Amino acid sequence: LFNKDFGQHILKNPMIITNMVEKAAVLSSDTILEIGPGTGNLTMKLLEKAKKVVACEVDPRLVGELQKRVCGTPFQTKLEIKVGDAMKSELPFFNVCVSNVPYQISSPLVFKLLLHRPFFRCAVLMFQREFAMRLVAKPGDKLYCRLSVNTQLLARVDLLMKVGKNNFRPPPKVESNVVRIEPRNPPPPINFKEWDGLTRMLFVRKNKTLSSIFRQAPILANLEKNYRINASLNNQTLPPEFDMKLKIEEIIEREKISDYRSRTMDVDDFIKVLHIFNTEGVHFA
Ligand code: SAM
Repeated sequence: LFNKDFGQHILKNPMIITNMVEKAAVLSSDTILEIGPGTGNLTMKLLEKAKKVVACEVDPRLVGELQKRVCGTPFQTKLEIKVGDAMKSELPFFNVCVSNVPYQISSPLVFKLLLHRPFFRCAVLMFQREFAMRLVAKPGDKLYCRLSVNTQLLARVDLLMKVGKNNFRPPPKVESNVVRIEPRNPPPPINFKEWDGLTRMLFVRKNKTLSSIFRQAPILANLEKNYRINASLNNQTLPPEFDMKLKIEEIIEREKISDYRSRTMDVDDFIKVLHIFNTEGVHFA
């Protein structure tokens, strides 16, 4: 009946649906985005509270069900359905997002939402538990990873509730959690390509110290290439005895960051390290 490829697990427990809508603090002036309305259990509750709901659904069969469900009700005019893959089209205007997310698009969806403009106020989203725990993981936690810092750079993230798999039909293999995401507005003044380059480099080995990561030949070669490009763009000639390894060692020593490791670095530590290197002309993108 339900299509596994589309992550179709219908939320059956009305208390959880009510709770998600409450946690989103929907105003009667809000336009809500819902990704994957399915048969519309959550959609109907959202329509009671909001000015408008835009629901993006990939499965035309479920779109038909949802249309039938609102047809002839006062909600009909408040609901706009977009048929298609939400990841492949531009998101419509919205200021709040509430969704029981198809798990296979979790990570790209988070960043699609966070990079969308204008900023939304908050998103209340159901994710598979391990993904939710990664989003909120703090430095030192076992699940702390690149997803954690990338998300926490751009947003405040809170765990709202645990949801057991038996609240869904059919039940998925894993447990779920509801999470609230509130974008940082304005966003931190960061070059995101540089940020991405640095965090990718440091999270490949999240237990290693900066000094040992920056001793690796392929990494040094890459940084040297960037450094030379940057120098020539600024009309600087490097002395023949220029040594990238030495330069990096000096920076790390002077700034006392040799013992830093990504496993325990918070967002501010990554920003600090990025700033230190960029100021010295060392670039990661
Ligand atoms: N919102 C419903 C509920 O809570 O009962 C259904 C949630 S179900 C976990 C995920 C829904 O997302 C399914 O209806 C599925 O067809 C839809 N879906 C899956 N991938 C999608 C995509 N890329 N774009 C839009 N909808 C998608």
